[in-house]
Amino acid sequence: MSVVVVGAGLAGLTAAADLAARGVEVTVVEARERVGGRTHGIEVVPGSWVDAGAAYLGDRHTELTALTAELGLKTTPTTMTGASRFTLGGDDRTRPGRFPPLSAVALGEMFDALDELTRLLRVDAPWLSADAARLDTLTAAEWAREHLRHPDALLFFPLFLGEMMAADPQDVSVLHMAFYLRSGGGVRYLNAFEGGAQEDRIDGGAHLLCQRLAAGLGERVRLGEPVRAIHQDDDGVTVTTTAGSLRARAAVVAVPPSLADAIDYRPGLPVSRSTGRTAPGCAVKVHLVYPAPVWREHGLSGWSVNAQGPLLSTVDDSPADGAVGVLTGFVTGREAHRFAELPAGEQRERAVAQAARLFPGLPRPIGFHATDWVNEDYSRGCYAALFGPGDWLRLGPHLTTPHRRVHWAGTETSTEFFGLMEGAIRSGRRVATEIITTYDWRDIHV
Ligand SMILES: Cc1cc2nc3c(=O)[nH]c(=O)nc-3n(C[C@H](O)[C@H](O)[C@H](O)COP(=O)(O)OP(=O)(O)OC[C@H]3O[C@@H](n4cnc5c(N)ncnc54)[C@H](O)[C@@H]3O)c2cc1C
Repeated sequence: MSVVVVGAGLAGLTAAADLAARGVEVTVVEARERVGGRTHGIEVVPGSWVDAGAAYLGDRHTELTALTAELGLKTTPTTMTGASRFTLGGDDRTRPGRFPPLSAVALGEMFDALDELTRLLRVDAPWLSADAARLDTLTAAEWAREHLRHPDALLFFPLFLGEMMAADPQDVSVLHMAFYLRSGGGVRYLNAFEGGAQEDRIDGGAHLLCQRLAAGLGERVRLGEPVRAIHQDDDGVTVTTTAGSLRARAAVVAVPPSLADAIDYRPGLPVSRSTGRTAPGCAVKVHLVYPAPVWREHGLSGWSVNAQGPLLSTVDDSPADGAVGVLTGFVTGREAHRFAELPAGEQRERAVAQAARLFPGLPRPIGFHATDWVNEDYSRGCYAALFGPGDWLRLGPHLTTPHRRVHWAGTETSTEFFGLMEGAIRSGRRVATEIITTYDWRDIHV
């Protein structure tokens, strides 16, 4: 055995596929009984799938776009035609396009202030940015109190952050917020559907990427084997799972930071690489399934933004085949914690009632799914880890530094498109090259 990869998400599978293509003997051990990690498909009616995890991609996601084509998959544009619905305090409002019925000047100033913040950032090494030490002590909530004066900006800012990062402003440092926005292509790119990061979806679901990568790796992928320990000596690593031990020259850990930290390493991780303190983002993704996308008949796009939960935003995620209408609802931040605590029946009732208030003429849904990423044992939140005050300065310089024969991957180790599928793939490619160049593979015939 040459390399053990821990985690069969996009990062781990990309790394494994790259290593296998270069002739390295590789085994992937995955805790769950499925591959895909934070990509996950749900079959809403026979043959029609929606994304319970990651869904959207844009033209700057070049590795993801290339992988999609390589695996024989296609993309479909995110439907965004018609008017949007807003419940932002006061009356419910319907407006053309996606711009909320709030002061355009105030929101423009807010986006400019965020742009200015991200402009000053050194995205490849946020901890080396000018003013990094100060920005890493402040939370995004403190930044908002200092920089946003208009009540409309103060109302919209947490909703924007919830949508972008599944975060509440008090949970992220200003440095992390600025880094995340810049790493993802800037505030306006990240926020946009047409011409932005949410322009397309993968036909049939993003989980197909992982399924196809895993199919290519065949028996090299082992499911249902959580890794508990990685011990190493001068000659190699011993990776212990719930089913036994594997010996290899090196290991790649491609799991979210807090889960990476839960593995028992011998020798132990240096304190600088200990990641346990990063908090997870929090989202419950809700799918309401209707016989057809009825909102379109009323000139509505399915997009809504709401100050009151549980559904803080909704989007039309109907499958391209038109078999059913699917309204996706995002429940994020503290709201996600509250919602996740509710009994399933109450979750359904509240989500259905809110959707009915937002979109007139909706029939009773024929299906309902709530995917609770807050309590998923092997994700522990989403969309990605949130770096709070102090995390970037402490952890940033060590995120990708190997711990002897243990190498790191996962979207949270990528300074490019951190937190996104693109970041996960780039991290997998980076670690595969790192492994190839670190060890002597002369016995391997590529
Ligand atoms: C609701 C939601 C919406 C999102 N929306 C988008 C979007 O629209 N666009 C976008 O680009 N990204 C989005 N993301 C983020 C995207 O899903 C992630 O960035 C990406 O999938 C992360 O891949 P990864 O391989 O780094 O980690 P993961 O997918 O988390 O993979 C890690 C794997 O490791 C496994 N594992 C964990 N611990 C162990 C262990 N001890 N032993 C063995 N295996 C272990 C896990 O089961 C998992 O399979 C979203 C995520 C969620 C959940």
